[in-house]
Amino acid sequence: MRIEGIPASPGYAEGPLFDLNQPPASYKAKASAAEEKAALEAAIGKAVARLAALVETADGDAAGILEFHIAMLEDDALSGPAFASIGSGQPADVAWRAALDSEIAGYEASDQDYFRARAADLRDIRDQVVRALSEDSEVALPQGAILYGEDIAPTRFLETDWSKGGGIALKRGSTASHVAMLARSRGVPMVVGLSALAGTFTGLALLDAERGGIIFSPSPAEVEAFRQSASSFADRQGAARTFLTEPAVTKAGTAVRVQVNIAYPSDVDGIDIATCDGVGLMRTEFLFGKALPDEETQYQAYRKVLEWAGDKPVTIRTVDAGGDKPVPGFTVEETNPFLGLRGIRLSLARREIFRVQIRALLRAAVHGNLKVMFPMIATPDEYSQAAALFAQEQAILAAQGVAHKLPPLGIMVEVPSVALAPEGFSDVAFFSIGSNDLTQYVMAAARDNAAVAHLNSVHHPAVLRLITAVAAFGRDKRIPVSLCGDAGGDPAAIPTLLEAGLRDLSVAPAQLAMAKAAIAGVPV
Ligand code: PEP
Ligand code: MG
Repeated sequence: MRIEGIPASPGYAEGPLFDLNQPPASYKAKASAAEEKAALEAAIGKAVARLAALVETADGDAAGILEFHIAMLEDDALSGPAFASIGSGQPADVAWRAALDSEIAGYEASDQDYFRARAADLRDIRDQVVRALSEDSEVALPQGAILYGEDIAPTRFLETDWSKGGGIALKRGSTASHVAMLARSRGVPMVVGLSALAGTFTGLALLDAERGGIIFSPSPAEVEAFRQSASSFADRQGAARTFLTEPAVTKAGTAVRVQVNIAYPSDVDGIDIATCDGVGLMRTEFLFGKALPDEETQYQAYRKVLEWAGDKPVTIRTVDAGGDKPVPGFTVEETNPFLGLRGIRLSLARREIFRVQIRALLRAAVHGNLKVMFPMIATPDEYSQAAALFAQEQAILAAQGVAHKLPPLGIMVEVPSVALAPEGFSDVAFFSIGSNDLTQYVMAAARDNAAVAHLNSVHHPAVLRLITAVAAFGRDKRIPVSLCGDAGGDPAAIPTLLEAGLRDLSVAPAQLAMAKAAIAGVPV
């Protein structure tokens, strides 16, 4: 039986199934409320200690997620209701579960992918403490197992030994979740949105996280075909690594610039600058996590990336909050957030917040080769207003004698109005095509909705026609055009994008080698 889903981290895994939803070992109730409270306190302490030990061995992003979990566990607001229920006669495990489940239900009910993804963090915290409350009698995880279930907790991911293979198959999940990000950076195959996944499975399964699917109880012919695909993927990956250190060129010898997309300044720690042509997109909204970052925090973050890149360009995008990336205290509740106050629209509506980012960017610009771009531009007037704010802040910094530089200002081409009528933007310094949003807006298919994922294809002639037109407009007007959507790192889309006239792609760091290898096979 094959179930189709969405690939969240490419690769193949063949192994025994492991049900993520197995009930944890049972808790033995105590004699008094005081003992129950002490048991819960001890279990929270134990969970915090386990997480702290994991932080020691985790890298940048993983450590950040674990520290976030520790902070939540130490927050009295989260445990308060559980201690109150113990006071009114509940055993510790029931009280803790009920308190956390009600919190989780709130997150799950959100119509925004970001908050639904955070429910997985809360489930993780819940289960860490339940586990600490119970005897450690859990079923051991077989080596190279395919973990399947509704969703997976980040700590569960981090505690798992992936060195012997294995993968993740989720009924829900999201390609935007923390776990998906970790799986991509560690090369663990993962498929989400397997909506037909129901019941309990045993035995061997085949996880195809390149196309997105899982096969249960495979026939010998299915195993054979799967192993061929897996070995072709491994060959392509192995061969791709030899391209990593070389500049990207097509078969005909045409040079293609390949830059990387990053979200956190720490993302550059694992990348050798010699393997890429700079940063084509730094998404700054992730700096706007739980609180709005101040000017100094932003300045240091941008400066770190600029100094890492040396002479190579770093394109930092001003905050693209809203849509599926809400920021508390900044974004607004909307019925249709993808079509609402998002990206530059929000920045222009909340100028006091935008000006802080502009100042940080102007100051950081002296430390490298900075370019700045605006997200979700729909009209020339929005670009002019944003550029005017840069000019105003520049004048203020100059009057104050603060070191700064005005970087070239460009725009994302991700709203169809810009791709259809680029002539209004002849004065911008560069274009960067956001194929993720351009595709969802052209096809009217939300990028975070598994049910319409089949419509969300950059290969549709309507999308390709727009990309081709923007590339031609750029050539004609001598405006550089790049593409920083996920299609740029997809080996299946790269030939089409180069044929459309693009010569500048920006890809996820894990896709760098495969992208360069795919470019080498294109005849143009
Ligand atoms: C895009 O839309 O293609 C893009 C690169 O921006 P984001 O994915 O951050 O919306
Ligand atoms: Mg976008």
